[in-house]
Amino acid sequence: MSDLARTLVDTHCHLTLPDFAEDLDQVLENARRSGLARIVVPGIDLATSRAAVALAESHPGLYAAVGVHPHHSNAWTPATAHELRALAASAKVVAIGEAGLDYYRDYAPRDAQRRALRAQLELAAETGLPIIVHNREASADLLPLLAEWTQDLPEPIAARPGVLHAFSGDLSTASHAIEMGFYLGIAGPLTYKQAASLRSVVSSIARDRTLIETDAPYLPPHPHRGQRNEPAYVSLVAERLATEWETTPADSAAITGRNAGAIFGWDHGIENGHLL
Ligand SMILES: [Zn+2]
Ligand SMILES: [Zn+2]
Repeated sequence: MSDLARTLVDTHCHLTLPDFAEDLDQVLENARRSGLARIVVPGIDLATSRAAVALAESHPGLYAAVGVHPHHSNAWTPATAHELRALAASAKVVAIGEAGLDYYRDYAPRDAQRRALRAQLELAAETGLPIIVHNREASADLLPLLAEWTQDLPEPIAARPGVLHAFSGDLSTASHAIEMGFYLGIAGPLTYKQAASLRSVVSSIARDRTLIETDAPYLPPHPHRGQRNEPAYVSLVAERLATEWETTPADSAAITGRNAGAIFGWDHGIENGHLL
């Protein structure tokens, strides 16, 4: 596939997890062949944040986010913020995250989750990087926190404060997030039979606020459910999105690729090289 056709961006993929240790080169080759231009690799703790930066620095087309997932937020200390700040100095770091609240699994106490999220919101404002937000069944606590944070954000981050990744909320949550300037990350569940509510969200929200992602190795799209997910499959999300938008997959890939460029600061979209 020519570079011109490569407009897909997987905005959320955990390439540093052990699931990809054996065949990362093949996974990246599969991604190129599926038309991917770029992949954003978020951290879930300090170790995976360090690994994401190292991976991004050694591969054109790979970019990193550094942060602590709510599952790991019990380990948060001031030293964590210090190290994330140092990691964020890399030119290949395009966001803080993933950070957020997970009241579905509740692997960490909720007050620890909120504390780690607040600290990472501060870090995002300070570094001028958008935040990648994980939210499971926590919108009632999350939205007020984000609203408070977006009150006095400096430019240019005020225009692109972050993304609610693997969005699974309702239309009112989606609208509220978009009013605050957030993007929504749409993942594999869009292709599931039971996804009527998510499909109605994607057909209602602004196209210029929509990103696509795999969240690999999790959330494999149809027909790969039960298997390991991988970045190449983001093309299946783009196809399903095209159906909802009543357009072509090339168009949904181009629009979401341009949106990824806008939020992650790739000033010339994906035309400025540094491709996978
Ligand atoms: Zn997540
Ligand atoms: Zn994730």
